[in-house]
Amino acid sequence: MHWTGAEFRAHGRAVIDWIADYLDTIEGRPVLARVQPGEVRARLPALAPAHGEPFADVLRDLEEIILPGITHWQSPNFFAYFPSNSSGPSILGELLAAGLGVQGMLWATSPACTELETHMLDWLVEMLGLPAKFRSDTAGGGVIQDTASSAILCALLAARELATGWKANVEGVKSPLVAYASVHAHSAFEKAMMIAGLGRAHLRLIEAPASGGFAMDPSWLERAITADRAAGLVPFFVGATVGATSTGAVDPVREIAAVVRRAAPGAWLHVDAAMSGTAAICPELRFIHDGLEETDSYSFNPHKWMFVNFDCDCFWVADRAALIRTLSVLPEYLRDAATDSGAVIDYRDWQVPLGRRFRALKLWFVIRHYGVEGLRSLIRGHVELARVFADWVAADDRFELAAPRVLNLVCFRVRGSDALNQRVLDRLNASGRMYLTHTKLDGRLTLRMSIGQTTTQRRHVEAAWTLIRQTAEDEA
Ligand code: PLP
Repeated sequence: MHWTGAEFRAHGRAVIDWIADYLDTIEGRPVLARVQPGEVRARLPALAPAHGEPFADVLRDLEEIILPGITHWQSPNFFAYFPSNSSGPSILGELLAAGLGVQGMLWATSPACTELETHMLDWLVEMLGLPAKFRSDTAGGGVIQDTASSAILCALLAARELATGWKANVEGVKSPLVAYASVHAHSAFEKAMMIAGLGRAHLRLIEAPASGGFAMDPSWLERAITADRAAGLVPFFVGATVGATSTGAVDPVREIAAVVRRAAPGAWLHVDAAMSGTAAICPELRFIHDGLEETDSYSFNPHKWMFVNFDCDCFWVADRAALIRTLSVLPEYLRDAATDSGAVIDYRDWQVPLGRRFRALKLWFVIRHYGVEGLRSLIRGHVELARVFADWVAADDRFELAAPRVLNLVCFRVRGSDALNQRVLDRLNASGRMYLTHTKLDGRLTLRMSIGQTTTQRRHVEAAWTLIRQTAEDEA
């Protein structure tokens, strides 16, 4: 019934060949899936098979049923949302994690899973030039979460406990706690407030005007905090964003930290750099992290722009005791001598779920394969392509830049109505030759060109620009 070693070897080789062929031919595939809602399900049998089927049949159905319903995130012509790039070493790291089948909830359930993770997070502190207080040999430390949303939630929960003297976890939330983030911050902040039982109405969305490049205006933050305190509310958490999803805007972390110190001392300051944090591998791009030493926690997603496939979010805190005290519950069945000794890290106490995957493996593989210099040159390449694309937009009278370009994201419009921009967007995406998404800035539809896929080169960006220009001309 189970595969023999020989069968596993044969099928495994077939799968690796399949992935290699897929990646070799991905450029020619329409980027956006072209199926209608329900089309994939309609081709699947209503019930599970009563008896096992040959693996070759499963692979055939992967090709015939599943592949048409795939949007090709790894295409070099994928310019939508944000990069979610991958790489050979990462895919193999993921495969090996599955092969080892480790569940790393405790140090004892696989010491290497925990220790490699701690070590990778320390490597990344140096690689990104993060503050030393995030290193594991201080009071702080890092952990891999599934996503930036989870990192935000964990930071917010720790902040809630600190602000309530560790009572909220026990008695429920009674204090009138309020949090703050930019109006352009990710919706994950709102979701965290909902999950934490604090209510989305208690999240203040702070002005981030076009005149300031859509970054949070610290003076509005200070006003909001002061007004809330005057009304008897308790400001407990501020979220700053480095690389906002819509625009790539970088909130001024240093100034925000100064406001927090002045107006809401003791409140927790978290920095969400999900998409853009990777850029700090390049020393000349570390300006995005100015002021980080003044913060309580920080996270970024190697699964966006660092060639590590989804999921992998790296999250650091300055005070790991606060995080662990917030999330720790120790039933008898999880007790062991290593935990009792206090000499090890049990990452189950640093996250919401108990169980955890061996994500550090793919991170290790990617860092070792490319090396810091290799990663730097890839990131610089993407940033340069975005710079060139923004220059083309700025030089063409039919287009306008809609926000300052900071790194690898260019926000732009065809000059004209929202309806015109929508038609251009729909037609570009229907062409199958590229995939672009939009946002709204100051109420106006804005196209976003996000450059960061593993194999995107200048010729892909050139072809995209040619197509965008032609399409705008046709639709005008
Ligand atoms: N924060 C920012 C700035 C993002 O761009 C995103 C993704 O778009 C997120 C958070 C959410 O990321 P995740 O899927 O890792 O929760």
